[in-house]
Amino acid sequence: MILLQPRKHDRKYPDERSREVMLRTIDFFEQKGKRRLKADDHAAVWYADFLEFVREERLFATMCTPAGEGAEDARWDTWRICEFAEILGFYGLQYWYTWQVSVLGLGPIWMSDNAEVKRKTAQLLEDGAIFAFGLSEKAHGADLYSSEMTLTRQQDGSYRANGRKYYIGNGNRAALVSTFGKLADTGEYCFFVVNSEHPNYTCVKNVVHSQNYVSEFELRDYPVGEGDILHRGDEAWNAALNTVNIGKFNLGWASIGICTHAFYEAIHHAAHRTLYGMQVTDFPHAKALFTDAYARLVAMKLVALRAADYMRSASPEDRRYLLYNPVVKMKVTTQGEDVINHMWDVIAAKGFEKDTYFEAAARDIRALPKLEGTVHVNIALIVKFMANYFFAPAELAAVPRRDDPSNDDFLFDQGPTRGLGKIRFHDPGEVFARFDLPNVRLFWEQTGVFKAMLTEGPPDEGQRKDIDFLLAVGEIFTLVVYAQLLLENAEIYEVDRGLVDQIFDVLVRDFSRFAVQLHGKPSSTETQMDHCLRMIRKPVVDEARTERVWTEHVHALRDEYEMNP
Ligand SMILES: Cc1cc2nc3c(=O)[nH]c(=O)nc-3n(C[C@H](O)[C@H](O)[C@H](O)COP(=O)(O)OP(=O)(O)OC[C@H]3O[C@@H](n4cnc5c(N)ncnc54)[C@H](O)[C@@H]3O)c2cc1C
Repeated sequence: MILLQPRKHDRKYPDERSREVMLRTIDFFEQKGKRRLKADDHAAVWYADFLEFVREERLFATMCTPAGEGAEDARWDTWRICEFAEILGFYGLQYWYTWQVSVLGLGPIWMSDNAEVKRKTAQLLEDGAIFAFGLSEKAHGADLYSSEMTLTRQQDGSYRANGRKYYIGNGNRAALVSTFGKLADTGEYCFFVVNSEHPNYTCVKNVVHSQNYVSEFELRDYPVGEGDILHRGDEAWNAALNTVNIGKFNLGWASIGICTHAFYEAIHHAAHRTLYGMQVTDFPHAKALFTDAYARLVAMKLVALRAADYMRSASPEDRRYLLYNPVVKMKVTTQGEDVINHMWDVIAAKGFEKDTYFEAAARDIRALPKLEGTVHVNIALIVKFMANYFFAPAELAAVPRRDDPSNDDFLFDQGPTRGLGKIRFHDPGEVFARFDLPNVRLFWEQTGVFKAMLTEGPPDEGQRKDIDFLLAVGEIFTLVVYAQLLLENAEIYEVDRGLVDQIFDVLVRDFSRFAVQLHGKPSSTETQMDHCLRMIRKPVVDEARTERVWTEHVHALRDEYEMNP
């Protein structure tokens, strides 16, 4: 069973505490029950009960304190973080979000040399505190260069901070808000911590209607001493981007959790609804939509798990994670939207009902592609790796499944964010060659045509400056990287080959769709258009395979799980 099934939790952990964290968290939500879960969601109730549970069980202390900074059971372990994020998303994005913005707030702290703030943070985590990440400002969105939060030096050498931050989760209660700004005298960037209880900190409002508190806050002459400063200059800039590197990976897991719960609910409803004397799941289009939804969801999980292996194995010499991580962020989260769309087409009116999990899933799944860097920002990043990925493969050590209980030290010591174009990758063709499956072969042929387009009709100077054109190219490149990670993990997890071929049936169709989009771009040349047309292929149809996947994997889940009412 690849998907999370909370009642049959059987994930491998090297220590009892990790399993306990997952089981207790599942138990909390099942005890709370679906009715309360939904009522709190609709009433936008602050999730004090969840945070009290987190405090009692020391969950964030265990999960979010790097080894050596806190108790024995604490380590930053992406293997267990993946499932924790998945479980929180499974029960509601709001619970995931309060944890997620704490993770972001902790990033600049654990990356800092400020031992005193780190000591205090470890204690605060033990005490059940939450944290916040004050990066965004109302007027500037993704443009961090324009940040206006300012630290002005005082005669005694300390600073006064002035400015506003916007869209800052947990800004109402965070014990420490890691805040990004500039030093007025030198123009250098700076990360410093503030306390949301301080009289010079004003929590202006919640900018959303939700259980989440996504604050606008203001610092007015907030006193900042040397002891409150985490990073200065380039280090502060690096801490911002490196923290987002850690955090944005978790968005994929929220999508996976949301889709998994929504899937159980949707297939259960459809399989038990009789129309014209037959079950809704007997309609060929309903079967096709559910099969695609399931194939996409399994792919999302395999890809995100594989990317975690590379994150955990990263080092100054191996920075492949800097490609795989935005692929998870951008692709897994947008695939999540597709999964929900497919299922919603089938369950139709049911997806609006207030008592369903699905109703919240349909709303929340939209958020994940947009937070911590939009799809555009991530594709713009991803295309920087394309030349080396396709045309300069390197011999690199194979990365195994990383389910060992180590602390992911490198994530807090990622170093400068420069040099992306120099990062090398192993040859993706190797894993494709190990899968002798019709649709995998077809996908690799499409990839060959795409590569040929890049050499025979490479984007000209105008196209290289045209983000709209680059995004269309980037969609196809992202799909290839996604398929590579998926195959690597299908091998590790010994996934049913019929299911793998079914997933590639979907990917071949996606490849064709993206080729049509690239073909239609205003500046595409004759050579590029010709290659695009050759990328459009029909998947290899195998009715027996599709029927078996439907029966054994998809329809088989119709009564698998229902949340405790
Ligand atoms: C619910 C919620 C919670 C949030 N929580 C936090 C938080 O806790 N802390 C925090 O600091 N922030 C938080 N944010 C802010 C969030 O990270 C930003 O919304 C996000 O970075 C995008 O900024 P924007 O929406 O203002 O879009 P803009 O930056 O205004 O972008 C506008 C458009 O330009 C495009 N664009 C921008 N730059 C580029 C580029 N370089 N290349 C290509 N296209 C580009 C974008 O794709 C987008 O389509 C939160 C936002 C929301 C909605």
